Amino acid sequence: MIDLHTHTTASDGRLAPDALARAAWEAGVRTLAVTDHDTTAALASARQAMAAWGIRLIEGIEITAVESERDVHVLGYFVTPTAPGLSRFLAKARAGRIERVRAIAERLEQLGRAIDLQRLLKDALVQPGRSIGRPAVADALVRAGHAASRQHAFDEWLLPGRPAFVPRSGPSVADVIATIREAGGIASLAHPGVTKRDDAIAAWAEAGLDALEAYHSDHSPEDTDRYLARARELGLLVTGGSDFHGEDEARGRPVERRRRMGAVTLPPADFERLEAAAVARRG
Ligand code: AMP
Ligand code: FE
Ligand code: FE
Ligand code: ZN
Repeated sequence: MIDLHTHTTASDGRLAPDALARAAWEAGVRTLAVTDHDTTAALASARQAMAAWGIRLIEGIEITAVESERDVHVLGYFVTPTAPGLSRFLAKARAGRIERVRAIAERLEQLGRAIDLQRLLKDALVQPGRSIGRPAVADALVRAGHAASRQHAFDEWLLPGRPAFVPRSGPSVADVIATIREAGGIASLAHPGVTKRDDAIAAWAEAGLDALEAYHSDHSPEDTDRYLARARELGLLVTGGSDFHGEDEARGRPVERRRRMGAVTLPPADFERLEAAAVARRG
C-alpha cells in the first residue's frame, strides 16, 4: 500500500521516524511519504528507519501558503531536501511560525490561559529544523489543564473566530509551487476538499501545480470523485494519503482515530505516473 501524506515529531506528528516506520509496516504500507509542515528535518532519519523495515521512503514536504487570508497547503514530492532555495524558504517559514506562536501565547496569557511558551521555544531551538505551530500550542493548553485535548484546544481557542486566533502571513501558492519545482519536486494541492478553493485550481495549474490530492482522510467519496474528474480535465496528476499525525491524547486517552495510517492510499498506477513525472523533471 502507498500512503503519501504523514507527519512526524519534526512538525506536529506524535511519532518520531522509527515509530512511524513501525506503524507503517503494521498498517501494510510499503511506500510512504513523510510530509512535515515547512520542514525536511525528519527525512534523513526517516530514510534510515524505513530502510530497516523494507519500506520505501518518498521525500516530501507540506508547505503552508496564504491566499486571501486563508491557509492553502501544498505538498511537494521527490524534493531534494538540501536544495538551497528550498532550505532558505522553509527557514523563513519556521521563523514566522515562532513569531506567531509567541503572539498566540501572549493572547492566551491576556485571556488567563497562560501556557509554557519557553518549553515550546526550547523545542524549536534544540531540534534543528523543528517546525512549531498551533498544534504545539494546543498540546501546551492540554498540559496546562486549559483544554481536554488538542482538538478541544483548537475548537475553543485556536481556530479563526476563536479568542486566541492570530492571523498569519505567508507566501503565495505560486511561490510555493515554484520553490518545490526548483528543488526538483512535484507540487500537489493538499486536501482540496478541506481548503475549498476550487475556483483557484485552474490558475494554480497555470502556475505549475502538478497534481491534486484527490484521496485524503477528510474527503468524502464525492470529494474524491470531484477531484479525480478535475485532475483529468486539467491534465493534472493525482496523489493521496492518510495525513496521519499519530493519535490525539485527551489526558492520556487516545481520541483521534480518524486519520489512521494507511486508511487512505494511492492506487499504484497513479504513483507510477507521479514517479515518471519526477524522473522527467530531473532530466
Ligand atoms: P498552523 O500551521 O500552526 O496554523 O497549524 C495548522 C495545523 O494544525 C494543521 O496542519 C493541522 O495539522 C492542525 N489542525 C488544523 N485544524 C485543526 C483542528 N480543528 N483540530 C486539530 N488540529 C488541527
Ligand atoms: Fe498538521
Ligand atoms: Fe494539511
Ligand atoms: Zn498534513
